[in-house]
Amino acid sequence: MASSIDPTCDPTLKSFIPVDSDTHFPIQNLPYGIFSPTRREDPRFGVRIGDQVLDLAVLQDCGLLDSASLPDGIFSYPVLNPFMELPKEQRRAVRLLVSGLLREEEPTLRDNLNLRQRALLPADSVTMHMPVAVRDYTDFYSSKEHATNVGIMFRGKENALMPNWLQLPVGYHGRASSIGISGEDVIRPHGQTIAPDAEFSTFGPSRLMDFELEMGFFVGSGSEQGKPIPINQAADKIFGMVLVNDWSARDIQKWEYQPLGPFNSKNFATHISPWVVTMDALEPFRLEAPAQDPEPLAYLRENDRHTFDINLEVEITAEGDDEGLKVCASNFKHLYWTMAQQLAHHSVTGCNMSSGDMLASGTISGPDKGSFGSMLEITWRGTEPVILPGGKERKFLADGDTVAMSGWCQGDGYRVGFGEVANKILPALDLL
Ligand code: CA
Repeated sequence: MASSIDPTCDPTLKSFIPVDSDTHFPIQNLPYGIFSPTRREDPRFGVRIGDQVLDLAVLQDCGLLDSASLPDGIFSYPVLNPFMELPKEQRRAVRLLVSGLLREEEPTLRDNLNLRQRALLPADSVTMHMPVAVRDYTDFYSSKEHATNVGIMFRGKENALMPNWLQLPVGYHGRASSIGISGEDVIRPHGQTIAPDAEFSTFGPSRLMDFELEMGFFVGSGSEQGKPIPINQAADKIFGMVLVNDWSARDIQKWEYQPLGPFNSKNFATHISPWVVTMDALEPFRLEAPAQDPEPLAYLRENDRHTFDINLEVEITAEGDDEGLKVCASNFKHLYWTMAQQLAHHSVTGCNMSSGDMLASGTISGPDKGSFGSMLEITWRGTEPVILPGGKERKFLADGDTVAMSGWCQGDGYRVGFGEVANKILPALDLL
């Protein structure tokens, strides 16, 4: 466990803004996001508290954040990046100030009706935007359960894990341009696929659309090219985390993936939850990460090997249905390779990391069937379909389906959560 818990994480803290015990956004969380109050106003920095959004640009204009000695206008940028690059102590000072202003016993904001009206807005009245300008996106493959399941399906039980898998965090360079947020639609992609035993491929809409339940983290301050990030300094480079749906077209993937890995099967869209939960807020939920056998090489060996206890769920709702089906309940803690190991491995060649880089975990599957993080595994490649509450059968995803992922840490009587990433699949375009 951590030696000292940040005072902003004290479970007994209460805000003057009322919250339910199952809200994802109590005063202990304070995630950052980018929002517009109305269509006419520019995107700016917000903190989510209960069902409200706190406008940090307004607080800074009023001088309420002056003691953190911040650059002028830092909360008026349309992305979090300039703030993410600030020294950790300065970011912590902001968190402490915001936490202080929201406390139930603190009158500054609570009793100033004019200021409250300007600085606090109902979350359902604002438009959320991509929180971060993502410079580069890398997707890992860090769940042993997921890699084993996929390996069994594609190569058989004996060769389920490739020889390298237990010795390095496998990953590939993804596509930053097509990352979007919850609420956006995803269009079913076209691509090349090949029928079993066929000699030549055909072109058309993907028939095997899938989700991948993942989490991602953003690099706060980057690193110089040629200078690897040492494993025991890697955790300090991480700004915060979001939920990630790494959409996957399985039929396109199956034909294209050898020998260089995924390409078109992944590059059309990736969606994230809009509120970035900071590592400070997650601190009370840290756990020891799973033991590794064999022991990794020295550059991947951690003094303080830890992960976080984050419950994760996925629900699929068909178009026109009132009710969805929970197809997965997993947990971030199952991952074999930690975020620090991913970052150390990524940069060990001297690859420079930039502020705003997003590194995603790979599909987070748990040990049992109810915890598998993709349709590929849940229906075992379509051989065991699921039935939605409205009676429709699913082997993979259909047009009109909404996939909603949520995640939260469970405290004693409160939660620190990520909200959700929920997106709908639209039919393929008519390209033929
Ligand atoms: Ca993935």
